[in-house]
Amino acid sequence: MDGVPLRCFSEDHSEEMFVDDGVETVTSVEQKKVEHSIEEVINVYKQIHSLPQPALLREQHYQYLKKGLRHLSDAYECLDASRPWLCFWILHSLELLEEPIPTTVASDVCQFLSRCQSPTGGFAGGPGQHAHLAPTYAAVNALCIIGSEEAYNIIDREKLLDFLWSVKQPDGSFVMHVGGEVDVRSAYCAASVASLTNILTPRLFEDTISWILRCQNWEGGLSGVPGLEAHGGYTFCGTAALVILGKEHMLDLKALLRWVVSRQMRFEGGFQGRCNKLVDGCYSFWQAGLLPLLHRALFKEGETELSRQRWMFEQQALQEYILLCCQNPTGGLLDKPGKSRDFYHTCYCLSGLSVAQHFWNLDLHHERVLSREENRLAPTHPVYNICPEKVAQALQHFHRLPVPSGDRASDPHPAAAAAADPQS
Ligand SMILES: [Zn+2]
Repeated sequence: MDGVPLRCFSEDHSEEMFVDDGVETVTSVEQKKVEHSIEEVINVYKQIHSLPQPALLREQHYQYLKKGLRHLSDAYECLDASRPWLCFWILHSLELLEEPIPTTVASDVCQFLSRCQSPTGGFAGGPGQHAHLAPTYAAVNALCIIGSEEAYNIIDREKLLDFLWSVKQPDGSFVMHVGGEVDVRSAYCAASVASLTNILTPRLFEDTISWILRCQNWEGGLSGVPGLEAHGGYTFCGTAALVILGKEHMLDLKALLRWVVSRQMRFEGGFQGRCNKLVDGCYSFWQAGLLPLLHRALFKEGETELSRQRWMFEQQALQEYILLCCQNPTGGLLDKPGKSRDFYHTCYCLSGLSVAQHFWNLDLHHERVLSREENRLAPTHPVYNICPEKVAQALQHFHRLPVPSGDRASDPHPAAAAAADPQS
């Protein structure tokens, strides 16, 4: 897409700005403030650059990420219970930038994550903490990105299955940790790690599908638990979990599509997480990442009007937002202009940028890299958000191993009980 005029430089771009119809609210004031800050960013960029070709600051991001693997500032103290997440955010950002991870660093990360693994299965937010589904997801993803024998061998699959059973609820949902809260993130984290490591059994996810389906509300998106407001992060988790379980067609796909495409902001080009909220760089993945899932789901349903070249959102506008508004000049990406960088937003801005650059459906692959070829990132897997070849490699490795026999439930399945009884 070299030389393609920028959408946000066009004459009529300001016509996309928010109109409050004379009704001023806290929300409308905030929305206008954000639009003005973005307008300013665009104007400054115009003044400095005669050729509008926004660049991905690869080297700066690489340096920021590399440093983060070894040293974190005091500001990260609050994430002491999310340390496997930091590993995942940084390793995934590096793989998107196609920067190899040195073997010694990879091995150190493996050893650290092994210390986060709980003796009762699953991974905790840090050594000595209790197992929790979110860091379990992050740790398994990080280990699959590393993709070495050492990395795969760290995961105790039998105990991981025990842990998943310990957080499974009678109504099909999962709690995030023993005694913890229920929301649809947990179903996704459980389905993701179970499918990657080949411990997924229908029994483990019994009633989970109907529970997730109940999270889709009148807006079309999904909420954290049935009956609440639709939200980008939960919608991604619920939809991706259903894709893993092969039941995404049971959602109202058209209503979901309408909801998610309406979350792309007209002026900013990025996505908001919920109706009437502000744009935020991390929703570049949580929302835009839904479009590949929806595209493929509708394709499977035999929808004939689907494009063979692009997703159903404005891919260029999202790339413009990320490249112009979400990059810290010294490396790292962020929510919106004026916010500070962090590894979470770096990971999800880059993941969203990758989704906006690569269209992929069966054997069709179409790239749409804004402004210069050097901005190209590696593609990401729309369900697991790690690079597709790492998903394939993990599946290949773990599918050679048998599914652990700890597939228990409070009331044993009659067929399983019969199979275990040599007399029957
Ligand atoms: Zn955010």
